[in-house]
Formats: sequence, structure tokens, C-alpha cells
Amino acid sequence: MGFSKKVSSLKESATLQAAAKAKALKDQGVNVLNLTIGEPDFSTPKSIQNAAIKSIDNGSSSFYTPATGLPDLKQAIIDRTREDYGITYQMNEVFVGSGAKFVLYALFQTLLDPGDEVIIPTPYWVSYSAQVELADGTPVFVETTQDNHYRLTVEELEQARTPKTQAIILNSPSNPTGSIYTAEELQKIGEWAVSNNIYIIADDIYAKLVYNGNVFTSIVSLSDEIKQQTIVVNGVSKAYAMTGWRIGYALCDKEIAAQVSKVISQSTGNPAAVSQYAAIEALSGSQAIVEEMRQTFETRLNDIFPLVQEIPGVRVEKPQGAFYLYLDIKETLDMCGYDNVTNWVNDLLEEAHVAVVTGEAFGTSHHVRISYATDMDTLTQAIRQINEFIDSKR
Ligand code: PLP
Repeated sequence: MGFSKKVSSLKESATLQAAAKAKALKDQGVNVLNLTIGEPDFSTPKSIQNAAIKSIDNGSSSFYTPATGLPDLKQAIIDRTREDYGITYQMNEVFVGSGAKFVLYALFQTLLDPGDEVIIPTPYWVSYSAQVELADGTPVFVETTQDNHYRLTVEELEQARTPKTQAIILNSPSNPTGSIYTAEELQKIGEWAVSNNIYIIADDIYAKLVYNGNVFTSIVSLSDEIKQQTIVVNGVSKAYAMTGWRIGYALCDKEIAAQVSKVISQSTGNPAAVSQYAAIEALSGSQAIVEEMRQTFETRLNDIFPLVQEIPGVRVEKPQGAFYLYLDIKETLDMCGYDNVTNWVNDLLEEAHVAVVTGEAFGTSHHVRISYATDMDTLTQAIRQINEFIDSKR
């Protein structure tokens, strides 16, 4: 009797945990201002909902589909990627899974042997390291800082490389910092990965959420050699406000896709058919809805950023994409007499009723993440309450 060592030592997703804690307090009747949320605050657009309803009405979503997705969905992914990236993939180079999160999980299961190392730039999205460990791999963290715009250099990668390095994860635009790699930086990283036979896992889930004239470059568009060694991970959650539908996908070499398909067919089987029909509409229907949501996030970012900059002790760089602000609150913690950011975050929730995510969840010790995927009233009121909380501690 008992539990596996692997799972016993596994932590729950810190972002989901922070959101649950905020919700529990809300359920007790406390007016919590929740800035932990990692999903758009819009409902899925009607046209997409209607496509799902149609697939229920006509019975087409009643049945299993191929484990790695309907051919029509794979085609829609290929067409969207060709339009967005200018790169053409074949049907056997695409697989669909139950959310980008599970796509990543299946990938690590496929690519890693015990002890294989995966380079993860910090701050990192919470699930990367946990998923690497679940696949018996070893996460190797390489620190990025605000001073280098939260972007890695090849020199830093080279220092982290060992004969066991199997893959590197790039998440541009980044959760939690919103930073985006330039084409030149990606070219150098791509060439380094090619010359050292290291897979690049490009988590492009925020690729469509880019603001203020900044530009997203897809690393696979830079050369055939780089494309060959890169697995692009994407999904409909963030760009189409479809987090609940659980559709993610990857584009990669056909051998990798064939191997991953075994993991998917023996674990989840196909992602929910009704969600696949919705995703076909999302990817192949009008993209004006994506632009509308993007503009809303951009306006919010531009309105909220000056207020965030004025929070006492905060250092923050304006994000280029995604929908998070990653605040360096080292000085704030000193001002408030805290030596631990998670304690500060807990007290902020309990005393000021504002929920944010501790930087410890992203592998840094004196940051917090604020999501601006919420309305302006909530955001401005939350910042007011954060300022009052800091004042009360000084
Ligand atoms: N990758 C990053 C960087 C994310 O922030 C998220 C969601 O929070 C995901 C992947 C997973 O997205 P989903 O599983 O909803 O497709």
C-alpha cells in the first residue's frame, strides 16, 4: 500500500492552487480580486460554440475519432500554420491532444529516458519542470533576468549543456514575463540546437497575443534544419478563449509524431470530439475575433502598466505579449519586512483580498505574477488595494 515516490513528491500546479485558494475565500463571501487567472475572461466566440452544437445535433461528435485528431482538424491546423508561419507541414507531422498541457506531457514521455536533461529558462511556466520529472527526466534551469529582458543567450545555453541534454524549452511570448525572442536570437539558439543535436520545444501558445507593434517570430521559419529539430506546441485555449475545451496540438518531424501517437492512443485516446469540431471552426473561421480580443488585452496592458510601475518598490518591464505582468518586488518585500515572497502573497490575499501568484511557482524568489485577463475595474481596484497593503506594512 502507498503511493509512488514520483507522485508523492509531485506538487500541485501552483497557479491552479492559487486560483483555488482565491475561490475558496470568495465562496466564504469575501470580495476577492483575483489576478491569478491564466485564461482569457471572454466566453468562447459564438461561431465556435455553434460549430460544436452542430456536431452534437448531427451526431458527428458521438463517436471516437482517430486518437491524434480528426483529419479535418489536422488540415485546419496545417492551413492555419501555413498562413501564420509561412511553413507547410504534412498530415503525418501533426498531432492533437487534450490541451497543450497534455501535448507537452506526451512529448516528454516520448522524448526522455531516465536522467535525460531538459533546459528550462527561468522564470518558467509551472508545469514544464513537473512534467519533465514525471517522465524521469531532469530539468536544468537557466536563469534569465529583467536586465537581459528575460531572454537566454547561446553562451548561457552552452554552459548548461551536457552530453545528457535532450531538449530545450522556448516559450515566446513567455508566461510569466511576456518577453518575446527576436529572429536573430532564435536563429542563434536554433543553430546551437542543431549543431548539438538537441530538440527545441517551442511553446507558441501565446503567439497571437502580441502587443504594441512587437513581432512574434516562429523559430521553425528560420531554416529547414531548425524546423527539423523543433516541435511546435500550440493550442486554441488562449487565442480563441477556449481553455475549457482542451484542444492542443503539435507540429514536428513525422517520426516524433508517430511515437507520441502511441502515448496518446494508450492514455487519453482522442480529445473530446465535440471540442475538435469547435477547434476546426476556430482555426479555419474568421480570425477577426482573435484580433478583437488581442486589442482588448493591449488596451488593458497600456492602461494598467503605468499604475503597476508606481507600486512602491516594484521593478517591471513592459511585456511584449501574453497577458501577464511579472513584477520584481524585492524592494517591496524589504519595505514590508518580508523575506519570503510566498508569505507576502498569502498575507496580501488574507488582509487585502487580492490574489496574485508567487514567483516561487515560476522558479524565482522575489517576483509575483499578475494576470490582466480580467476587467479594468478589478485591475485598478486591485492595484489600489496592493498599494494600501504595502502602506500598512511600512
Ligand atoms: N503553455 C503555457 C506557457 C501556458 O501558459 C499554458 C496554459 O496556462 C499552456 C501551455 C497549456 O494550455 P492548454 O493546456 O490550455 O492548451
